[in-house]
This record gives sequence, structure tokens and C-alpha cells, in this order.
Amino acid sequence: MSLRLLPGGRAADLPGLLVTGAAEVVTVAGGPRRGSGQGDVDRRSAADVGGIGAENAPAVAAWEGRILGVGGLADLERLVDAEGYPLERFGRLDAAGGAVSPGLVDPHTHLIFAGSREGELELRQQGAGYLDILAAGGGILSTVAATRAAATETLEDHGRHWLAEMLTHGVTTVEAKSGYGLDLATEVRLLDIAYRLGQEGPIEVVPTWLGAHAVPPELRSRPDATEAYVRLLLEEQLPGVAAHGRAVAADVFCETGVFDADQSRRILTAAAGYGLRPRLHADELAPSGGAELAAEIGATTADHLATPSETGIAAMATAAEDGRPVVATLLPATTWFLMKDHHAPARTFIDRGVPVAIGTDFNPGTSPTPSLPLAMTAACLNLRMTPDEALAAVTVNAALALGLADEIGSLEAGKQADLVVWSVPTTRQIPYWPAADLVRTVVKRGVIVLDRN
Ligand SMILES: [Zn+2]
Repeated sequence: MSLRLLPGGRAADLPGLLVTGAAEVVTVAGGPRRGSGQGDVDRRSAADVGGIGAENAPAVAAWEGRILGVGGLADLERLVDAEGYPLERFGRLDAAGGAVSPGLVDPHTHLIFAGSREGELELRQQGAGYLDILAAGGGILSTVAATRAAATETLEDHGRHWLAEMLTHGVTTVEAKSGYGLDLATEVRLLDIAYRLGQEGPIEVVPTWLGAHAVPPELRSRPDATEAYVRLLLEEQLPGVAAHGRAVAADVFCETGVFDADQSRRILTAAAGYGLRPRLHADELAPSGGAELAAEIGATTADHLATPSETGIAAMATAAEDGRPVVATLLPATTWFLMKDHHAPARTFIDRGVPVAIGTDFNPGTSPTPSLPLAMTAACLNLRMTPDEALAAVTVNAALALGLADEIGSLEAGKQADLVVWSVPTTRQIPYWPAADLVRTVVKRGVIVLDRN
């Protein structure tokens, strides 16, 4: 039976899709990865069955946006036929000797903001620290001022621009935090923009409320500034954000000198009461009780973790062992961009059985990169993760960090048909060619949304 070719790389109006001609299909199927399994990505290689184009070379079949199966082409065609799907209604996407992976999932970005902060790079080169930069009018608060002043349309255009950039790096789902408004009206505006951009597509956007990103400028001169803002968050901002209904998760910058563990616990517990999944920026600059808190309250993910305490690591290891894992979402592009020589202990987390995810932390101050593959390179070079461990970290484990492990992050029957065809024959080359454009085709929910052929 012959199959119709997809015309010119644009979405064909066919309900089925068959991806063929791959050198390998890496499914990352079988659930989130941790411990010695972190790097088990389930690689199906054409070379093992007679080469690309062989009768049973690895292929992927999808129908109406969901994956029907992954397997040898001949087996898959028989399965599709046996289950009653009309083969002539499948378009065929030729991977042309490239590797096929699940669509990448970026589990940590600050997508919606205005302005840029390139001057801070030079200040840092001259040895300026966080507080010096803040005193010079930089840092988070300068982005807050620019964001509050920006028109909604400007913020939306900016977010759309960077999502398009992320798509070119193979990303099909992105978490997007608010946190540059720090007042109810602007936070709601940012969450609304994130939500609308997700509805617009093709990238799926998961909005997270990060009202507790910093204490806003209008409160900072008060002696009880942080506590006053926490009360405002609990009494006004959180109820308002929850009623607005766009955010699905709540995040707190839990760090000594920002929001302490007790304040973070109060905010996240209250947020959970409104049905928002708790997550936190934890132990980025100093051990601050963030990892411990994440395990205690059952956060879906604890992020950064450059300096967790031994107690915090042990708490996360126990949680993982007990089947209620907190994902360690590590952000190596940030430590790289900040020129730090101390990195998150990824190998320790892996050794202790904690699932590890990787994100870009895309933001205008400390990690202005939209490239998740570049973050994979940083994970390999600075965190000593293997390329396969890094791939699991940006697919199925990143999906787990977003509470979406049943929907996305791997190529297996029933999940969304989100996948990438790479121009290289193995996904092990993704972190190996830093900053190269390796994406050939991106499929979101069964539709070709980017094609460089
Ligand atoms: Zn962040």
C-alpha cells in the first residue's frame, strides 16, 4: 500500500502521520527517569535492523495528534492496518537519515518580560555582584519597571518572538512564569499573555505564577518589606491570580535574603489550596532550606539547586524513593552565563535516585538563551551528565516537572505526537555541536509546525 507524501513540509490535511527514514528513533518511553536509569532513553537504531530504509527500520505512527505506535516500519504498517486506520490517510514524513526524538520540553523559563540587560554582563566582568548591579539600577527590578510600563501588545510580541526562536531549537512545550509584575494587575496580565500565546500555538505554554520573585520597589523602603509583601501575596495577589484561572503552578524564589523557607512554605501551601502546583527556586546562591521544603510540601520540582544542603538532598532522595519525587530541575546555562565555577551536583542527585530535568531559565538577566540544546551542552560539560541523561532531562523528566508526564515527553502510544527530526543521525550529537542549528522538522500534536527541508 502506498502512502501519500506530505507536500512541501507544511501541515497536510491528513489525520495520520508516519515518520520514516530515521537513522534512529529515541522514544524515552516507559516513564520518568532517575538513578542509573536517567540515561536509558530507549534508542531504536536503523543500523540494528539492516539500515535506513530497511523493511523494519524504526518509524513512528500518529493519528489525529496522538501517537499510535513506535516500531519497525513493516510491523507498524501492519498494526495500523489491523486496527482499522486507513493507510492512505497517513502523510509520510521522511527523516532522511536524521534522528527522531520527542519534542523538547523547557520546564523553567521567565518568558514574558520587556527590555534587556546586556549592560550587566560588562558590570559582572568588572566584578560587580548582585547587590552592586541592583544599586546601579539593574537586576530584576529594572525588568519589573520595564515590564509594568510595557503595552500588552509589546509583551505579547516579545513572547511570541522568543517562542518562535525556541521552536527552532526543537522545543514543543514551555513553562512560562510571571514575576516581573509583582502587583496583581501586571501579574494577571503576564499570565494571560502566556496563556494566550499557548492557545495561539504551536508551542504549548504552561503558565506559572511567580509573584514571589522579589519584593516590589514600592515596599522596599519599609523595615518589614518582605513580610508586608508576603501578606499582600496571600491576601490579594494569590486569590486574584487563582480567580483569574490562568496559572497552573505557583513558584517562589526561596533564597536567603529573598523569601525564606518559612515564607515560601506559607505562600506555596496557600497556593496549593487554590489548586496551583507548588514549585520553587531553591538553593541557587546558598543553602536556604529550599530542597528540604520542596520534599516536605511535595513540590513537583525544585529548581537551580546549585548549593543544596546534604539534608536537602537526602530529603529529595527519600521523596523519590517513596514514589513522590520532586524533580531536580537544574539550570546550567545560568551558572555558565553568570561565570560561576560552582555547579549543581547533578551526579549526586542521579546517584541518589532523584529525577533530574534541565531547563534554560530563559530570562533577561541571568540566562538570556532560548536554546534548550545549549543548556544540554552545559549540562554535559559542567554537570557531567551524559548526552542521554541530558536528553531524558529535557523530555520525560521535564514533562514530569510540569505535571504532564502522561501527555508529553516521550514517544509512546497514546501520548501527544510531539517530535523532532534532527539533521544529525543520533541524539547524542545534540549537545556535541554547541549552538548549531540541528533541527530539521518539528511536529506538534501530529502537525508539522517547522520544516527546514
Ligand atoms: Zn528562574
